[in-house]
Amino acid sequence: MTSPVAELTEAERRDLEAVENGFGRFARYLVARFGAVRSSMLATAAITLVTFLTCLVTYEIIGLDYLGNPISVVMPVVMPIVTAFPTTLVIHRLVAATMARERQGVRQQAALRAAAEESALHRARAEKTSQATSDFLASMSHELRTPLNAIIGGADMIRNQSLGPVGDDRYLQTAEDISLGGMHLLQMINAILDLAKLERGAHIYQLEAIPVCEIMDNAVRIVRGQAEQAGVAIRFTPPPEQLQIICDDQAMRQVMLNLLSNAIKFSPTESTVHVDAATGTDGRICIRVADSGVGIPEDQLDDIFQPFVQVDSVRTRSQQGTGLGLALVRTMVEQQGGQVSVESTPGQGSVFSLAFEAAAKV
Ligand code: ADP
Repeated sequence: MTSPVAELTEAERRDLEAVENGFGRFARYLVARFGAVRSSMLATAAITLVTFLTCLVTYEIIGLDYLGNPISVVMPVVMPIVTAFPTTLVIHRLVAATMARERQGVRQQAALRAAAEESALHRARAEKTSQATSDFLASMSHELRTPLNAIIGGADMIRNQSLGPVGDDRYLQTAEDISLGGMHLLQMINAILDLAKLERGAHIYQLEAIPVCEIMDNAVRIVRGQAEQAGVAIRFTPPPEQLQIICDDQAMRQVMLNLLSNAIKFSPTESTVHVDAATGTDGRICIRVADSGVGIPEDQLDDIFQPFVQVDSVRTRSQQGTGLGLALVRTMVEQQGGQVSVESTPGQGSVFSLAFEAAAKV
C-alpha cells in the first residue's frame, strides 16, 4: 500500500500525466501499430525530415564585409521556430516529470523509514510483553504449584491416616475430595503453563528420525493400566519398522498419550481402541487412534482443538478433564510439521489421525 506521504501533489500529477498520457499514449499507439523497431525508425525519419524541410525555408541578409564589399548571408528562418518551441516544451515536461518522480521516491523512502522504525518499536514492545509473560508464568508456576503440592500432600496424609486414625469417616471423604480437587487443579495449571510456553514458541523440540512403531508402542504401554481399569481393550497393530518420521520423542509421546487417554475415557466398557499407522496416498505417514465411544457432533469437530472446549455430553461431565489436551496436541503436532484431524460419528466413535512427512531413509 502506498503511504499518503508518498502521494504526488496535484501539479506533479499533471506533469506526469502530460508525459505518460501525451507522449506515452502516442508511443504506445506507434509500438502497437508498427512494432518497437519500426516505430523508432519511423520517429527518427520523421524528425530528420521535419528538420531538413524547415532548413529549406530561408531568408537572406545583405550586408558589407570589413573591406566594405556587399555580402549576403542565407539563414534558415522556420527551423528555430518550428523545432525550438516544441523541443523546449518537451524538455520542460520531461524535467518536471523526472523531478516529480524523484520527489515521490524521496517521500516514499521517508515513509518506509518511518514504517520500519514503527515496526521496530512494536517488535521491541512485543518482546518486552513476551518477557513479562514469561516472568509472570514462571512466578505463577512457582506460586501456585508449591502451595498446591502442600495442600495435596496434607490431604493425602489425612486420607491415609499417616499420623494415626481419624475419628470421623466424613473427614476421610473430605480429605479425598481435597486431594482429587487439588490434583485436578495442578493438572490444569501444568497444562495452561505448557500451552502458554508452546504458543510463545519457547519450547525447543529435539527433532530426529524416529520409527513410528516405537512412538506408538511406548505410548500404548503407558496407558495399558488406565485401559484395564476402564475395561477397555487396546488393539495395537505395529507398523513396519522402516516407517519413520522426524519428530521430538517426548512431545510425540505426550501427543499419543493425550489421544489414547481420551479414546479410553470416552469409550464404553468392553469396547476396543484401535491404534495403527499406514502410509497415505499422499506419501505421508498417518498414525490413527480409533475408538467406538460417544463420538463428537459434526459442528464441534473443529472447536474441540480450541483451549477449554469440551463437548457437553453426559460422558464428558462424568469424566475428569481440563479441555486443554487437544489444544496441546494440535500445537505440538503443528510445531513439529505435522497435522492432526478427526472424523467422528456421534454414538459410534471417533478416529483421530496424525499425518507426518515420512523421514528420508539413510
Ligand atoms: P479433556 O481434558 O476434556 O479431555 P481435550 O482437549 O482432550 O480435553 O478434549 C476436548 C473435548 O473433546 C473433550 O472434553 C471431549 O468432549 C472431546 N473429545 C476428545 N476426544 C474424544 C474422543 N475420543 N471421543 C469423544 N469425544 C472426545
